[in-house]
Amino acid sequence: MLTVNEIFYSIQGESTYAGRPCVLVRLSACDLRCSWCDTPYAFYEGRKMSLDEVVKEAESYSCPLVEITGGEPLLQEEVYPLMDRLLASGRTVLLETGGHIDISRVPAAVVKIVDVKCPGSGESDRNHWENLERLQSHDQVKLVIRDRIDYEFARTTLSRYRLDRTCEAVLFSPVHVVLDPKILSEWVLQDRLPVRVQLQLHKYIWGPDARGV
Ligand code: SF4
Repeated sequence: MLTVNEIFYSIQGESTYAGRPCVLVRLSACDLRCSWCDTPYAFYEGRKMSLDEVVKEAESYSCPLVEITGGEPLLQEEVYPLMDRLLASGRTVLLETGGHIDISRVPAAVVKIVDVKCPGSGESDRNHWENLERLQSHDQVKLVIRDRIDYEFARTTLSRYRLDRTCEAVLFSPVHVVLDPKILSEWVLQDRLPVRVQLQLHKYIWGPDARGV
């Protein structure tokens, strides 16, 4: 069984897939508490569903793109057969993970979007740094940036792990309504960083507090 917070069909909001129609499967529970977390409702709320039920509901939208997110999806053992089943059906599968759990068991065909937690999250000591050595060329790394301290941490991480050479994209995402995207963009341009400044598209389409869209 899986504990599922919600399954819905919407526009993918973060990553190089942003803007594409996508089925999102949000699994419940997380063992981090990022200061800016925008899905705290996923910490505890959820319904038990069998693997077959989750696959059936995800496939009911006839969408070739599925994202598994959370909460922290890698906390549930059955996420691995879920990824296998969705891949076997021919879908492109994205996995968003907080970056503190080993990603080495994730099927190679899954596009992993791996967070690196900056100091402003309050969880940077939980980063599982070995994950950054296991990235594949189609994977992406996301750093949510709250202030200049976070930006400098992100810049150092980019350079130390040469992330722009090892994965598809490095996403620098300002904390919504906390760090002005213009300021982050200016920093990136000044330093000529090979990253992608990313806004959370779904918040601009549906509103910052909308759920299930
Ligand atoms: S890892 Fe994600 S779900 Fe968990 S607290 Fe951080 S932002 Fe929220």
